[in-house]
Amino acid sequence: MSARPSLVVAIDGPAASGKSSTARWVAERLHFRHVDSGALYRALTHVGLRSLGPPGGWREEELLAHARRVTLHPVPGGFDPHVDGHPVGEAIRGPEVTRHVSQVAQMPGVRAWVNAQVRAAAAAHDVVVDGRDIGTVVFPDAALKVFLVADPWERARRRLVQRLERRPTDDEIAEETERLVHRDASDATQTVQARDAILLDTTYLTQAEQVDRIVALARALVRGADPGAGVGGGGG
Ligand code: C5P
Repeated sequence: MSARPSLVVAIDGPAASGKSSTARWVAERLHFRHVDSGALYRALTHVGLRSLGPPGGWREEELLAHARRVTLHPVPGGFDPHVDGHPVGEAIRGPEVTRHVSQVAQMPGVRAWVNAQVRAAAAAHDVVVDGRDIGTVVFPDAALKVFLVADPWERARRRLVQRLERRPTDDEIAEETERLVHRDASDATQTVQARDAILLDTTYLTQAEQVDRIVALARALVRGADPGAGVGGGGG
């Protein structure tokens, strides 16, 4: 293991801005590990839905008492959230978790717990971390901070194409846009662009173009800061 501190690339942005898939791909290209902070908020919300009854009345202490059931397991390329020792997979991406996760993410103790998990994952590896407050709160000294934005209609369209695996109708996109705008409003306090983040509007970019730009920025910045540090050469 190298003696230098881990390198961190922070990718923040609103719901469905493509953070996680972009971060995963960037991590692969740089030979870093990907950490999806939102997956921890989602996994804890999933545990709450299974163990704590109707979501309206959950107390922070109750949720935190269940937090030890959620862990991040190293897998090739990153970390998978597990609940009670088993991978949660797509169970945390469903509409019920998505509807209630913002409420869980408002709780300061929950935020502190997620941040500790994410920092622990980064302690021994170079990482690409995606979330809302990674460049501001979790890793204010990250080597590279990117804030991804895209037009809400386009974000909704992309999300539906991914989910439905077909071309969505305008009515479907309109409904999804409304849900996204609502979640953006619920997450507004914690979704903060760091002053030193690079703003990347992906409305008119393909995912490959977004990834290329972030990889190029990471390589340039790391070379500038530490000419000895390697960031995934070869392979593009
Ligand atoms: O990124 P994703 O949409 O999966 O995140 C799910 C939810 O987790 C967000 O809507 C937000 O409420 C919360 N979140 C957060 N801070 C982060 C990452 C996610 O508050 N760093």
